[in-house]
Amino acid sequence: MSDKSKDVAWKYSAAVVEGNSIRLRCNFCGKVTTGGVFRMKEHLMGGRRNAKGCTKVSEEVRQEVIAFMESKKNQKIL
Ligand SMILES: [Zn+2]
Repeated sequence: MSDKSKDVAWKYSAAVVEGNSIRLRCNFCGKVTTGGVFRMKEHLMGGRRNAKGCTKVSEEVRQEVIAFMESKKNQKIL
């Protein structure tokens, strides 16, 4: 399996190919983001920086994405 399949963003969004770029579409609200899985996770977690937060994501999923981001952060430190 490729590394990208491990990212939690792929559970809650689908790749949309437009020309030669790949965008991600949110499974909850249908919003298409252009910043890759990182931007999609920001969208799922709620308004951070330039990403508009998802209005339809469940609190459960939001917490899962936040936990995923935290675990990534910890891996970087170690
Ligand atoms: Zn959304």
